[in-house]
Amino acid sequence: MNGRKPVRDLLEDATFWSLVDQSGGIDACWPWQGKLNPDGYGVVGGRSVGAHRIAWAKANAKEQGALCVLHTCDNRPCCNPKHLYLGTQVDNVRDRTNRGRAASGDRNGARLYPERILRGDRHPMHLHPEKAGRGSQRANAVLTEEQVLQIRLDAAAGIKPADLARQHGLARSKVSALLLGQRWKHVGGPLRASTRTRRLTQDEVQMARSAHALGETFAALSRRLGVSNTTVRNAVLGLKAFSKRRL
Ligand SMILES: [Zn+2]
Repeated sequence: MNGRKPVRDLLEDATFWSLVDQSGGIDACWPWQGKLNPDGYGVVGGRSVGAHRIAWAKANAKEQGALCVLHTCDNRPCCNPKHLYLGTQVDNVRDRTNRGRAASGDRNGARLYPERILRGDRHPMHLHPEKAGRGSQRANAVLTEEQVLQIRLDAAAGIKPADLARQHGLARSKVSALLLGQRWKHVGGPLRASTRTRRLTQDEVQMARSAHALGETFAALSRRLGVSNTTVRNAVLGLKAFSKRRL
């Protein structure tokens, strides 16, 4: 829908607006009267350039660059520049999902491109049966892009990662990786900033231990050092990673 073909020559085309139905007035949707692609977006001159992209570019006297031209009106053939704005592919996916228009049913990729899905003998479970977790060990569910997006949206809505892991039969570490965008980055959706705290230096650990011995709380040290409460506690008590570090 948002191919990146050059649109310069199309921008010069004076006949463009004659194919846009502006009869509804300045605030109405202006549907493209020319061809539509299978997704319902207007296309210009038989090329896979979205009519809405050209409309935005003409109205703003520049090309969109790396960004997508998106609709506020959710009406794909609409070319009213007042209904168009620039956003990222991630915004695009989020908007579609918020409006309940993520490809589902016959429009889902799994239906459109069944050959891309590994099944039967090509399925990883067949190729590497020894890697298959069983029963409570099962922590390697095969995810779809839709599930990944849903997990990100659920997490953004406040569902705990541990609950998401249980719900989808995933290892907690996998859920964490996909929420951070370390896996499945292309799917988009809301990502989390890494909450990993920095490593404390040996001096800081010594300082934390002395300060704690003198009565400074873990919470106060956590604020002072800019790491989590847990990290301070582990450092002071010599737990977890700090039990292996010679100090
Ligand atoms: Zn519109």
